[in-house]
Amino acid sequence: GRASRSAPLASKLLLLGTLSGGSIVAYADANEEANKKEEHKKKKVVVLGTGWAGISFLKDLDITSYDVQVVSPQNYFAFTPLLPSVTCGTVEARSIVESVRNITKKKNGEIELWEADCFKIDHVNQKVHCRPVFKDDPEASQEFSLGYDYLIVAVGAQVNTFGTPGVLENCHFLKEVEDAQRIRRGVIDCFEKAILPGLTEEQRRRKLHFVIVGGGPTGVEFAAELHDFIIEDITKIYPSVKELVKITLIQSGDHILNTFDERISSFAEQKFTRDGIDVQTGMRVMSVTDKDITVKVKSSGELVSIPHGLILWSTGVGTRPVISDFMEQVGQGGRRAVATNEWLQVTGCENVYAVGDCASIAQRKILGDIANIFKAADADNSGTLTMEELEGVVDDIIVRYPQVELYLKSKHMRHINDLLADSEGNARKEVDIEAFKLALSEADSQMKTLPATAQVAAQQGAYLAKCFNRMEQCKELPEGPKRFRTGGHHQFRPFQYKHFGQFAPLGGDQAAAELPGDWVSAGKSAQWLWYSVYASKQVSWRTRALVVSDWTRRYIFGRDSSRI
Ligand code: FAD
Repeated sequence: GRASRSAPLASKLLLLGTLSGGSIVAYADANEEANKKEEHKKKKVVVLGTGWAGISFLKDLDITSYDVQVVSPQNYFAFTPLLPSVTCGTVEARSIVESVRNITKKKNGEIELWEADCFKIDHVNQKVHCRPVFKDDPEASQEFSLGYDYLIVAVGAQVNTFGTPGVLENCHFLKEVEDAQRIRRGVIDCFEKAILPGLTEEQRRRKLHFVIVGGGPTGVEFAAELHDFIIEDITKIYPSVKELVKITLIQSGDHILNTFDERISSFAEQKFTRDGIDVQTGMRVMSVTDKDITVKVKSSGELVSIPHGLILWSTGVGTRPVISDFMEQVGQGGRRAVATNEWLQVTGCENVYAVGDCASIAQRKILGDIANIFKAADADNSGTLTMEELEGVVDDIIVRYPQVELYLKSKHMRHINDLLADSEGNARKEVDIEAFKLALSEADSQMKTLPATAQVAAQQGAYLAKCFNRMEQCKELPEGPKRFRTGGHHQFRPFQYKHFGQFAPLGGDQAAAELPGDWVSAGKSAQWLWYSVYASKQVSWRTRALVVSDWTRRYIFGRDSSRI
């Protein structure tokens, strides 16, 4: 980047030099030489991906001492939490995307962006191999490689079909902006087809049966959006078929929103029942065709075939092929996400960092640490703790491992609640340490991984940028920027996730919010909080203005149901 920026200046000097007899040529050469040296000194940083993690790293990175190149198949950043709103036209697709080149504009240099997919990370030779996205243009589709001193892997995750037959061919997914646009067209298509003459009532019913597989936040939010869209806008336009519309939400677990507080998941279930959304829990999808979805009822083993018009598959995330290949190379084959240490460095590759959905911090010592915290609290070695002591212990654990808090609050912890209260719900006076530790150890796998959310990805990107910004300073000042150094075996403090809570919009201008400090709210006030938080979190003033104006437009004119 730097060499090309200095080229016009050098060529002007060369031209001047030629005109004035040649003495400036030497000066121009020296200048270029100096530039080259400076260029040489700069460490090459390659960033893969421009999602939440990649963008928050690039936004906060001081590029004075780095030569930064970015590879991503998207030259834009998409605000994924608003994707469900795009599926029904509550918000327009262009309102939630911002050009990466705009976001990463820097005063002191340039970040280069290549619109390409990285298909291979060669960590031994410190290179990434890439393929431009322009497959139809032979000139613009030639593969290229980039060398790096530091590599930031932030490619996110991909949809996970769990190998279920027919899912890839017959289901919609909601991961990218294009997916949301396709769903929007798909929903309108179902109505346009259902009103055509010559169809039987059964055929019309099938076309208007919308099935959502997965009762996590995305599935629930889409069900809510779709319900609002149909009730508020669509049925006014297609009154002849409004009685035939049905929305079904299929969940394999016992409850929807099971990573949320129990009160929220039961509020959501009750609201959906009132709205006529059919919530089917304890069901596993076995296969999907263009007309039917076959599910197995877990309790009875019975197979049921459900006709459908459109299916959204939203059951969690899987690993991208480039990540699976990289994990094989570094001895992490078979994992879902790249294991890193607490400083986000890939285990075994010091100069490769992994952030966001494609990474997981290996908290190897967590259970050992927890055992030590309990031991310290049990000074009299009685094997039991009073409730007060236990509270202190849990607080200590949460400070060190904030992800445990999420787990403690989720419904999975019912068996821990049984340890804390008797069958009548009265709080016990003491708790047995071993039983409590055993219950926590069952939570081990959940505690090891942070949730795959934008919150985690953005905090990791920002943390890493902070480390990179201080790397030079740390080398020059062995004492280092004190507030950030631990003085221990690593230059920087380990990454600590701070959970700011989570939302679940439930339709009808109601949402559920779970905020730190065990604060749970559901209803219209939570929806207004959702509006303000999501407006404030936009990456630019342009998207903020567009999103707010889309919300206002929807209030005044409703959603647009044209199929374009
Ligand atoms: P991503 O944001 O997915 O970014 C990955 C980037 O890598 C993309 O730019 C992609 O184009 C690029 N890439 C992919 N393959 C390659 C390759 N081979 N080479 C180079 N680049 C590549 N989280 C919340 O916290 N709150 C929410 O409300 C919320 N709502 C959500 C709603 C929906 C519909 C979805 C799908 C997700 C939601 N999430 C939410 C989750 C959140 O979006 C993800 O956790 C987050 O996007 C992860 O960030 P990331 O940077 O790891 O990956």
